[in-house]
Amino acid sequence: MIQLYVPLNFLGVIYREIKQSMADMERLFQLLEQHREVADAPDAKPLAVRGAEVRFSHVNFSYESKRQILFDVDFSIPAGTTTAVVGHSGSGKSTLSRLLYRFYDIQSGSITIDGQDLRDVTQASLRAAIGIVPQDTVLFNDTIEYNIGYGKPEASKDDIVAAARAAHIHDFIVSLPDGYATMVGERGLKLSGGEKQRVAIARTLLKNPSILIFDEATSALDSKSEQAIQAQLKEVAQDRTTLVIAHRLSTIADAGQILVLDHGRIIERGTHGQLLAADGAYAQMWARQQAHRDEQTASPAAPDLD
Ligand code: ATP
Repeated sequence: MIQLYVPLNFLGVIYREIKQSMADMERLFQLLEQHREVADAPDAKPLAVRGAEVRFSHVNFSYESKRQILFDVDFSIPAGTTTAVVGHSGSGKSTLSRLLYRFYDIQSGSITIDGQDLRDVTQASLRAAIGIVPQDTVLFNDTIEYNIGYGKPEASKDDIVAAARAAHIHDFIVSLPDGYATMVGERGLKLSGGEKQRVAIARTLLKNPSILIFDEATSALDSKSEQAIQAQLKEVAQDRTTLVIAHRLSTIADAGQILVLDHGRIIERGTHGQLLAADGAYAQMWARQQAHRDEQTASPAAPDLD
């Protein structure tokens, strides 16, 4: 019994860690199928994706019964458009993405994709429809080809190269002495933050999901890489329903909708222009980041929202 308990307990610890970071959770779910906190309903059906409209209706959520994290969160992301969420650290931004991926079930309200409640569809079909570019991409100790392709085992080398080209990392890869066979990860070549994000973008392109979650890195890349990554993400997000968890307002100024989250409540919503005109919390954050940017022209990354 104890022999069994120890590895299961160990897996549980890993599972919680990964869940928290949202890194590589797609793979982890395959590995730890039996350790899910949420289960498929007996009559769960595959998600039928049409345009992939996402809707959070009056969502209340707490991880633990004593502390409520989200309060009556209500918004929709029209099919094929981008919604960005901003707010101070701990306001609940990443929680929204965890709930959309159904890591947890909510206490009240509903979350739907094209009108189908997440609790009524199979988790496999839900997760197949969602691609994630996490804050910090974890690379496996394997080749760069494997790292791009692992989310789609049936992908051919040509598919992988096409995804790498589209993510603008192909030229970098072929410049390495071992090309696509280069070992990366902890024991191999260490990639920069921007290169790792490009690997994540290539993975996502290969998966070709209808819904994209982009969890922006808290620490800014240098401004050239940042702009390049932003441009690529814009291409990837084109025609996909996209949720961006943003830390720098400059990266989301052209989002179709921006939600401002404060202690688990949406306190403002609108486009960048509408929110500036409203002269509220968002306008203040914007002014603060712009002032910081002006001060730091030598190092133009805007500060976090904290
Ligand atoms: P950041 O910008 O720092 O990433 P965030 O707005 O994304 O913050 P969340 O990660 O959504 O914030 O966390 C919202 C709140 O939920 C925080 O107070 C956090 O401590 C709490 N929380 C997050 N994960 C868990 C968990 N697994 N169990 C209990 N509380 C949690």
